[in-house]
Amino acid sequence: MSTDMAPLQAVLFDMDGTLIDSEKLWSIGLVEVADELGGSLSAETRASMVGKDLVSSVRMLMADLGVTGEPAVVQRLLVSAMAREFANALEWRPGAEDLLKAVRAAGLRTGLVTSTHRNLTSVALETIGRDNFDIIVCGDDVAHTKPHPEPYRKALRELDVTADATVAIEDSPAGSTSARTAGIATLVVPLEVPVEPAPLLTIRPSLVGVTVADLQALLLGR
Ligand SMILES: [Mg+2]
Repeated sequence: MSTDMAPLQAVLFDMDGTLIDSEKLWSIGLVEVADELGGSLSAETRASMVGKDLVSSVRMLMADLGVTGEPAVVQRLLVSAMAREFANALEWRPGAEDLLKAVRAAGLRTGLVTSTHRNLTSVALETIGRDNFDIIVCGDDVAHTKPHPEPYRKALRELDVTADATVAIEDSPAGSTSARTAGIATLVVPLEVPVEPAPLLTIRPSLVGVTVADLQALLLGR
């Protein structure tokens, strides 16, 4: 454990379930598409989709329903269902908007690191603000999506910051694994599914009352 603490330079935010309460909207969109395909999605499969990318989610949905055919067709159905939900019903998670504003006001660099593809992310950014982020890494920008560390490594490279001067904020097991295996201290605010304790993870019930000083303190002892 080091007694020196690097100054916090950057904060990387997951989107779905962390900044915005979109996992509920994903649940609605998935039910709609399962219905269109003439089946119903199991709770187990839905839970294991949280934090995964679109292509994986479509594959899991089709397998769960026993549907064969062209994944691209199912993917289009899901994207249009989600674009409707995102445009109509997107809400911040408690404390998320205040923390994002505080991080910007403190002059820290920010990145959005999401498994969601760029077309849907663009719809969500109408609510959360494109200008709040210096860089945006989407699910279709990487070869390996969360839980692989590639999305977070790409974000560090694009911001030109090191992992030890950066904090990530996540809600899911897949997202937390991605961030911490990229070497980033991660604040986890679980939403749909619990996240097990692990090195570099700090688990809190929500972002309400979380300050920039709290994020800086996550770099202590790493
Ligand atoms: Mg998430």
